[in-house]
Amino acid sequence: MTPPQNFDLKSLIACPKCDALYRVGPVEKGDQAKCLRCRTVLYARRRDAGLIIISTALASTILVIAALFLPFIEISRLGFKNGSTLIDAALAFYGGPLFVLSLAVIGSIIALPLTRLFLTLYTLTPLVLNRPAWPGAKRAFRLSETLRPWSMAEIFLVGCAVSLIKLTDLARVELGPAFWMFVSVILLMAIQNSFMCRWSVWKALER
Ligand SMILES: [Zn+2]
Repeated sequence: MTPPQNFDLKSLIACPKCDALYRVGPVEKGDQAKCLRCRTVLYARRRDAGLIIISTALASTILVIAALFLPFIEISRLGFKNGSTLIDAALAFYGGPLFVLSLAVIGSIIALPLTRLFLTLYTLTPLVLNRPAWPGAKRAFRLSETLRPWSMAEIFLVGCAVSLIKLTDLARVELGPAFWMFVSVILLMAIQNSFMCRWSVWKALER
């Protein structure tokens, strides 16, 4: 079906979940436009959203990098104590068949979230500063959205917590600072996600 003439496609928005089509209307500051059928947020106007997103992204980047060098767990048994960082854990399988698996785990919990954080900062920093978007910003934002389902730090943490509970029968297990840093990163990411209005970002990038 072809749209009638003098029909402005830019004034339309489709619900990303159920494909219902709406005409974009004005939204008050702090309000959200939701799909009538499935209640998905179509777009929102929040004060200082961009600033909140880039500050949480920056804080998360620092936490993820710092967490690499600090103990993730500490295990003690019969007076012996051993702390392990995430890099130690990956390298423990070096040379064995499990090394590929440990690299995949490190990729999904460190490399992918760090790449997404970098892409978010690259896309949004100039927009927040009211400057023209940096070159390739559209591609960077699209890549960041494509990677979204693949960065799985929260699933990893839940898995760790379950295995650590099982380990407590054998030894005393303490969660190291890196574990709590990852918990903070997940909370910061959730805040970032709730303030991110993808439609507004695309509109700003088109300008
Ligand atoms: Zn919908």
